[in-house]
Formats: sequence, structure tokens, C-alpha cells
Amino acid sequence: MPRILIVEDDASISDVLLFVLRNAGYRCDLAEDGSKAWLFIQEQPPDLIVLDLGLPGLPGLELLRNLRKSFPHLPVIILSARDAVSDRVCGLELGADDYVGKPFSNAELLARVQGLFRRCPQQHPEIRRGPLRLLPEHCELQIDGESLQLNLQETRLLEQLLGGTGRCFSRNQLLNSVYQEEAPALSDRSIDQLVTRLRRKLKRRSPNQEFIHTVYGVGYRLELPS
Ligand code: CA
Repeated sequence: MPRILIVEDDASISDVLLFVLRNAGYRCDLAEDGSKAWLFIQEQPPDLIVLDLGLPGLPGLELLRNLRKSFPHLPVIILSARDAVSDRVCGLELGADDYVGKPFSNAELLARVQGLFRRCPQQHPEIRRGPLRLLPEHCELQIDGESLQLNLQETRLLEQLLGGTGRCFSRNQLLNSVYQEEAPALSDRSIDQLVTRLRRKLKRRSPNQEFIHTVYGVGYRLELPS
């Protein structure tokens, strides 16, 4: 079953959240302040987060900002008081996927969580090829088990290349899959620069291996060591 992290400092609310979500079959963990939550997430990224905004330690909106940088696909539901419209708007602008206003009914909360899981299924399953293991949901690459943190663009690039190991992708194909709606405003040069940065990152971890090969006049392909 999916794992949910509840980030809430008010025990009367977290007790209800834990009760409702565990009853529905989810595995749940609780963090009672923002800093502890952030440490927990980095160690064991959950499948969904229910995030209170008014938190001791790291404030909820700050935590959300960190989350969106490092875990762009992780679904987040914010909890906010019904009258805190500005917080709620700010949370959604920062990339929260939904919100539940306090006080909430148990049925409403559960419906929101289930709805979000339906909307955000694990769309980016991990890919394993040879010594490489890409965890797109966490923007993480493991080379022979050693972890390397990527940014979103590097992750999308590798996702594409690893999906067609040995196959050549044109710069234009890569541009579209990496930059999506921003692609029309960019040139092939953006892909070349991204590949250069990613190669440098891979080299630091694995100096003797060249994974991304240039196909002159065409684009790039990924090759695994034989
Ligand atoms: Ca609170």
C-alpha cells in the first residue's frame, strides 16, 4: 500500500488523520515539525504528503518550496484553515496538488487523498539498465548503487535516453521531452548544454565510463558498458 507522510503539529488533528488514513489501508508516518519532516522525506520519500502550513521548525510553505526542487513529482495536499486564503493560494502556486480546509470531514479528507492518488499515479516508474538505476520520482540516479542527485531536466533527459538504450534520439526529440511546453522557445543548444552538464556529473561519479554518446549530425544515444 502507498505510504503517506502526515506533517502536522497539532496532535488532535494528526490523530484523526492517522486514524482515517490507516483505516483506509494506507501506511502512514507522522512528522510534527517542518525540519524533521524534511529530514524524513530525504531519507524515505513517501508516496504522498499531507502538509499543514502552520508548523514549528521549517514553515510549511518553505518545506513545500524545498520539496518542489528535489521531489517535483511527489503529490502534496496542504491543510489550511478555511480563512487563510492567501496561504492556500501561495501553496497551490508553489506546486501543492490540492488542499483541504480545516476543519475537514473525514470523508472529504479521504476523498481528496484517493483522488490525488488517482490523478498522480506513479507515472515515472524506476528504470534499471546495467549499472544504472533511475528513480525519476525522486530525481535520483544510482550508479552501481551509489546515489547521485539530479535536477528535473537531467532526470527527464536520462529517462528518455534510458527508455531507448542504444537508440539515437534527435536533439529536437530530446528538447521536447525535457523542456516540454518551453521547448518551442529554445534551441538545440539547450540540449547540448544539458548533456554537457550531465556528462560532467556522471564523470565525477564514474570517471572511466562514457554513457552518453554523440551521434554526429543527429543527436545522442545512451550506451551501457559491455
Ligand atoms: Ca499547525
